Amino acid sequence: MEIVIASKNKGKIEEIKRYNKDIKKIEWLTYKNLKGMPDIKEIGDSFLDNAIIKAEAVLKFSGKSALADDSGLIVDALDGKPGIYSSRYAGPDATDKDNRDKLLGELKEIKDFFKRTARFICSMIYWGAEEGLIFKTEGVCEGRISFEEKGYGGFGYDPIFIPEGFDRTMAQLSRDEKNKISHRGRALADFFDFIVKL
Ligand code: IMP
Repeated sequence: MEIVIASKNKGKIEEIKRYNKDIKKIEWLTYKNLKGMPDIKEIGDSFLDNAIIKAEAVLKFSGKSALADDSGLIVDALDGKPGIYSSRYAGPDATDKDNRDKLLGELKEIKDFFKRTARFICSMIYWGAEEGLIFKTEGVCEGRISFEEKGYGGFGYDPIFIPEGFDRTMAQLSRDEKNKISHRGRALADFFDFIVKL
């Protein structure tokens, strides 16, 4: 069974491909396999809307089934920012490092670690070429924003996010540790429960 991962984000693609890699019935494809696929504008106003936009674009272009994940970081002290703008928080061409620096700067005055609560959210959908939009789920990972960057694993905000129950940042966890507790890992667990029965 072929499924296109509707993302250009290398970190996400790697986490999805790595998850439950013993399930042999899926052949993962990415945009690289869809030559000429136009850029997708994420104009939705929720994670779910954006996941639907990505999956629908893949299906329309390629006729293939798509797994789409739209995800981001919600910081309580910033009224939920950066949210759906997580990837471009510091501007349209922002790097992950630019985004982390901006966020750390905005939380500078919050010295109490327990007030630096945040969560990653991942909205995931599967749009089957034959079956239509037949699966959606949301994975959440609670934690806090650290005072400085630590670790080199993962991507995005991982070096400044300390998951609940850990004293290391997400970037200090191994890939398999991250996949067990992350928002995406939780959504993927639901997805695989669903897809093995299909
Ligand atoms: P998307 O590709 O539009 O869904 O944007 C996701 C953005 O949210 C990424 O570019 C990161 O900034 C952030 N993000 C999502 N998931 C993670 C994660 O697992 N670790 C760190 N940052 C993440």
